[in-house]
Amino acid sequence: MKLDSKYFDKIRVKPGEERLTRGKHPNCEWPGCARPGRHKAPKGRDQEGQFHAFCLEHVQQYNKTYNYFAGMKDDAVRDFQKEAATGHRPTWKLGQNASTMDAKGRRAKPGDFRDPFGLFGDGGEPGKTARSARPVRNAELKALHTLGLDETASKDKVRTQYKTLVKRLHPDANNGSRANVDTLKAVIQAYDYLRSTGFC
Ligand SMILES: [Zn+2]
Repeated sequence: MKLDSKYFDKIRVKPGEERLTRGKHPNCEWPGCARPGRHKAPKGRDQEGQFHAFCLEHVQQYNKTYNYFAGMKDDAVRDFQKEAATGHRPTWKLGQNASTMDAKGRRAKPGDFRDPFGLFGDGGEPGKTARSARPVRNAELKALHTLGLDETASKDKVRTQYKTLVKRLHPDANNGSRANVDTLKAVIQAYDYLRSTGFC
């Protein structure tokens, strides 16, 4: 059908009506969304100068997820991404460098863990955190960062934060969108890990 242009021009377009502006913008990149992607969102680290195009609703949702990582230090984010690829297993072990010589020139035995920097000793201030019973493992710290927490978080805080994040990221809370599923999986893995080590 050929559109009668005179007729077509008379169709009133309400402000905010997005249909007729399609073509000027790529479609929103959100899965299943067909609105114009009028809003740019940075793709993130290592992709500087590159942008996603989203509609207003989805740029807001994207930014929420994006900002979720903003509190992390760059290193933590990079480690997190690296670990996501390895299923968040700790990538190093205590005693890994045990083949080095000890102070007396003996070859240290595997499992003969020394702590030259005092990182794992009980040198911390007693009572500074609620969990001075044992040191926080490196992988636990990363898992806590994944949950947006740090090593001072109590068991209750970890559990509460976990529930909050799952509710927020679950597709059911996002009109069925699975856009946050990777973040959700990471949160679940982090929590499972903290459970498995007895941290919470
Ligand atoms: Zn959209």
